[in-house]
Amino acid sequence: MREKADSDLVRRQNRLLLIEALRQHGPLARVELGRQTGLSPASITSISSQLIADGILEEAGEPQAPAENLHRRGRPLTHIDINPKSTHVVAVKLSIDGIELALADGRGQVTARRRARTATYDADPKAFGRLVADEIAALLAKAQVPAGRVARIGIAVQGVADSRLGTVVWSPAFRSRNIAVSAIIQDRLGIACSMANDANMMAEGLIGADRARYGGTAAVVFIGYGVGMGLIVNGQVYHGPTGAAAEFGHMNHLPDGPLCRCGRRGCVEAYAADYSLLRWASGEAATRPPSFNAIPEAEMLSLEAAAGRGEPMARDAYAKAGEALGFGLARLIALLTPSRIVLAGPGTRAMPLIMPGLERALADGVVEELRRNVEIEVVPIDTDMIITGTIALALRHVDREVFAHGPPARRARELEEIA
Ligand SMILES: [Zn+2]
Repeated sequence: MREKADSDLVRRQNRLLLIEALRQHGPLARVELGRQTGLSPASITSISSQLIADGILEEAGEPQAPAENLHRRGRPLTHIDINPKSTHVVAVKLSIDGIELALADGRGQVTARRRARTATYDADPKAFGRLVADEIAALLAKAQVPAGRVARIGIAVQGVADSRLGTVVWSPAFRSRNIAVSAIIQDRLGIACSMANDANMMAEGLIGADRARYGGTAAVVFIGYGVGMGLIVNGQVYHGPTGAAAEFGHMNHLPDGPLCRCGRRGCVEAYAADYSLLRWASGEAATRPPSFNAIPEAEMLSLEAAAGRGEPMARDAYAKAGEALGFGLARLIALLTPSRIVLAGPGTRAMPLIMPGLERALADGVVEELRRNVEIEVVPIDTDMIITGTIALALRHVDREVFAHGPPARRARELEEIA
């Protein structure tokens, strides 16, 4: 029995190796799959035909036949890819101005979208999970996909999420704390559901988009309505034991500083988020409580314009934001020596105003020997990266928990045999 269990483990690992190679590289010929996974040609042939029979992979023609192939003899190489019909996953993004939903196929391509505007801040915490479940049901109805064909739902939320309990522990988008969401959705729709912080999902999206660039140790910092971070350690997003890791925005910058949305004083966010910049520029940083409403883009554009014209209060706000971000990042560099720090989000529009303060703080905050190996880059504003990352993580769960094992019927038979 022990031997049987061992060989099953190897089989599952090999299936997963193949699936993950295809997720990372797209369609591959069998010989290339062998090179990427290190498996023998015989193993590749047997595992891939099993995965094709299971409906998880499919054979496809060569993606685009290069011109030289026309002169080559023999048949063009058959490529293998993930079967888009193998499964569906749903990504849900909860933020201060509403609920955004996307349905994706087995390859991660978005096939349907839905958006619901809802005042999250005053939402009834008891009814909110049901509201999200209804929105997911409406998305599936529109796409004519039965719930039974959806393997997983991933939810990304601003603020602190508990991935074990599936709750919104604390979020600037909600007045209430500890809002149960995942369990209610799971009950109503019968689909496995997990929750994570939105900046972590941004990091997942970056790895999915370019593993070579972001697959080492890197941090993505979101600057906008709040300040968030997704931390990538050795190619994996670091979620911590409860999913609440890397709350960079709520690291303390200065004790007794201005009030933050989390209820504490002097957090990085209380200097660098939209509401914090407006507060500094108005000269009321010490007295005005943080805003819990989404701030219109026009208001931020006019603040940027004022700073661009040289208005001292507005310029000072961006200098303070740069300083808080820079000292925070200096601590992160000393702690983890990431090779890359990615700045993202609508707040990066004002990077020319923020950067001088940030660079000065970095130079003051950490020794040159640690600093010089870190590359800082700004990626274009793309909130869809949160949706992309949520889809990628949901599919990774499906790969490990469903596809690696095979179709449910066969898995049940195996468990019986092992017992
Ligand atoms: Zn805070």
